[in-house]
Amino acid sequence: MYRNSWQSEFIQFCTVVGLFTAFGINSGHGFLGLCGGLLVVILNSYRQLFQFYRWLVDRDNEQPWGYGYISNAAAFIQRREAKYKNVIAKQGKTINQLNQGLESLNDGLLVLNAAGYIINMNSSAQLYLNLRRQDIGQQIRHLLRAPSFVKYLNNAHFSEPLELDIEPRSYQLQVTEFGGNQRLILIRDITERRRVETMRQNFIADVSHELRTPLTVINGYLELLQGQLDSLPSPLAPALDNMHLQGQRMTLLINDLIELSKLESVGRERRGEIFNFTDLCQRTVNQLISLRDGCHLSLSCDADVVIEGFETEIASAISNLIANSIKYGDGTEVVISLRRHRNGYEFAVKDFGDGIKAEHLDRLTERFYRVDSSRESKVGGSGLGLAIVKHALENHDTQLHIESQLGRGSRFSFVLPEARIHEVVCYDSE
Ligand code: ADP
Repeated sequence: MYRNSWQSEFIQFCTVVGLFTAFGINSGHGFLGLCGGLLVVILNSYRQLFQFYRWLVDRDNEQPWGYGYISNAAAFIQRREAKYKNVIAKQGKTINQLNQGLESLNDGLLVLNAAGYIINMNSSAQLYLNLRRQDIGQQIRHLLRAPSFVKYLNNAHFSEPLELDIEPRSYQLQVTEFGGNQRLILIRDITERRRVETMRQNFIADVSHELRTPLTVINGYLELLQGQLDSLPSPLAPALDNMHLQGQRMTLLINDLIELSKLESVGRERRGEIFNFTDLCQRTVNQLISLRDGCHLSLSCDADVVIEGFETEIASAISNLIANSIKYGDGTEVVISLRRHRNGYEFAVKDFGDGIKAEHLDRLTERFYRVDSSRESKVGGSGLGLAIVKHALENHDTQLHIESQLGRGSRFSFVLPEARIHEVVCYDSE
């Protein structure tokens, strides 16, 4: 093509200049004819350049015509444009289809740039978060000011989704990071799921409350009858003992169910009161001494740790952990400690029992999960202890950590986060 343009340009040039020169020679002014020919060629090139410029700026103008470089370049540009128009139309169609797909989603989708400005969102996201299309380009933190959301976004730990209440509905927000710190937020309406969950919790709490009173009466009569054993036929004694034992287990189960549903129903945003955690550990150990049955309980703390939280919930968590170590340990020793940790203060309970197989560890905090039901039914327990611990700790922004080795015992621990610690008074080392 370059060669063709060059050839046409050269032929055009030679023809015009040649014709003018021949005409000049013919009329006795050869030089003038040559100059005239060159002038015509130059003017024609300027005309074509001008036409080309006008056509480039506005395609409504006439396209430069002729056989030279400029007209060929214009034809080349036109062919390229037609090709790209095709590609752009195809891409536009794909983007439209994608947008329609995203629009038809029930879940909300929100795309943020690294600084938290909205790049795009679908209509469900607008509906759920009370946003408008005009909000694209705005800082999300200025539009969605819920402290839990701002904290979640700032902390940038997105492994767990965030549950957000925007009255009257509840949403779950799951953030995925992509392409250099951009964030895709998937918003799911969980109002219905929450409603069913609340109904389930209320049902369990109501049933447990209703069962408690008749059970107290039955247990009372059983105790009365046990006191009258002498006047009753002797085969009744073991049956009464068994009924009394089962009655106590049911009471324990019902109390644990009530406690668990209370823990599940409270909001996580609460802060609680200020209390001395070290004192609480000491009191709990003293209370559990009656359970220990020859087992040595040792408590070591390196400071008075004053925290912000709910004393009854934390008391329940640590007493469940210590009672389990007494029940499932080797019966000789349980070591309880409270030590400085890089993220706060760590409470740990260690026993030297049979330990737990690794495959069970993740499921221990599920309701009624037991490693060995036959053994556990002998030692007693509701199967809800660790579920209670899990919820009580989650309500205090921390988690249960379990380490165990078969034949060497188990260690249950949690870290009281820095944000919950009000004051630490270290003991004198002397
Ligand atoms: P339970 O009322 O049966 O003790 P938990 O929820 O407190 O219920 O504990 C669940 C299960 O975890 C127990 O049944 C037991 O198998 C296991 N477990 C808990 N603590 C220990 C421990 N210190 N050592 C070994 N196993 C334990």
